[in-house]
Amino acid sequence: MTSQPLSQTGAAVKAADRAHVFHSWSAQDLIDPLAVAGAEGSYFWDYEGNRYLDFTSGLVFTNIGYQHPKVVAAIQEQAGKLVTFAPGFAVEARSEAARLIAERTPGDLDKIFFTNGGAEAVENAVRMARLHTGRHKVLSAYRSYHGATSTAINVTGDPRRWPSDNGSAGVVHFWAPFLYRSPFHAETEEQECRRALQHLEDTIAFEGPATIAAIILETVPGTAGIMVPPPGYLAGVREICDRYGIVFVLDEVMAGFGRTGTWFAAEHWGVTPDLMTFAKGVNSGYVPLGGVAISGAIAETFARRPYPGGLTYSGHPLACAAAVATINVMAEEGVVEHAARLGETVLGPGLRELAERHPSVGEVRGLGAFWAVELVRDRETREPLVPYNAAGEANAPMAAFAAAAKKNGLWPFVNMNRTHVVPACTISEAEAKEGLAALDEALSVADEYT
Ligand code: PMP
Repeated sequence: MTSQPLSQTGAAVKAADRAHVFHSWSAQDLIDPLAVAGAEGSYFWDYEGNRYLDFTSGLVFTNIGYQHPKVVAAIQEQAGKLVTFAPGFAVEARSEAARLIAERTPGDLDKIFFTNGGAEAVENAVRMARLHTGRHKVLSAYRSYHGATSTAINVTGDPRRWPSDNGSAGVVHFWAPFLYRSPFHAETEEQECRRALQHLEDTIAFEGPATIAAIILETVPGTAGIMVPPPGYLAGVREICDRYGIVFVLDEVMAGFGRTGTWFAAEHWGVTPDLMTFAKGVNSGYVPLGGVAISGAIAETFARRPYPGGLTYSGHPLACAAAVATINVMAEEGVVEHAARLGETVLGPGLRELAERHPSVGEVRGLGAFWAVELVRDRETREPLVPYNAAGEANAPMAAFAAAAKKNGLWPFVNMNRTHVVPACTISEAEAKEGLAALDEALSVADEYT
């Protein structure tokens, strides 16, 4: 069927979207997607001229902001030179991206397996761990998100895995530390850490250490609430993995590439996993790319035995050229250091100040450009502002909060009873303060539900 070309109005874009685009994670008739006309730096805008400061970085991926001219130019240049090529060849952009990534990953994570995104990275990390160990079980945390493909959604802890759970053979969930809602009834970080490690040891003992291929954790669990682990936890998990010959997988899809104020979040605790997944910030999502950084020992397993896995577009030259340009921009412009400073001098202090004035704020936590504000009905009981996994009317307080933020030109990240403050790592101090002022007003709306 032929049709008229779209006139570039928001209404036409929206009409075609509503008619033909099937959106992720959505009841198709209950959503109202904004028609986006453009984006630059920390902002995007619609066709009516409404401009929003993006406190979400998309889905926490535009770490260097939108439309960075150097990265756009690098993509254009690569398109002119060699727009695509199959994965089984040595291609300049791919070689260079792998070299730059391996230079920055901790320890001996020196081999890079490229994917098209985060979930595929998790799929492959789990497969590598299973083949390397000859074991099948995978332990992962309840409060986690690892992606929407088969194994990735099964190792995920949040409710999005429920409809897919029948495929989760060998996946065992455990509780990772989270002092504010401590699964261990702990009162101090030290207690939380100790009890969480004991709980993990107990889980391993009852599952059978010799059946466990991998423990997978987000270094700083992101989607589930930006829960910065207590000192000693990740080192403790590393030690447990070494003791039982379990592969330690750290998922840095969200926390990696500058988000926490270091190239990779694992650096904060001096821990090196055996496998590390990445995506998002690797090229700020300009072209889909993800991957697994692989230790020497696991790479050795596949030195003379084929690795049974691969993707048609693995290490796509366009995506890799974008990664090379992004990593160079981050290094030249000091983006990682900027994110660290932003957390220490603007976002952290600014959010804590809001917490003092707004009764709906239960806790503020995070680091770098990676912060969560947990909203509650009651600070004493810590009852969440909306129930776990609330939808429809039950979610009205968070919907009202989000609407108020948007009215003030701020696009907020909302998940369950939390708003995450996850702007571009390149956001200026002035822009960050403008966002905090809009957040201040939106929190007054949340306060009405306390
Ligand atoms: N792991 C983590 C920690 C993530 O945050 C995400 C995405 N939010 C994924 C994996 C999945 O990545 P993708 O959506 O690119 O498949």
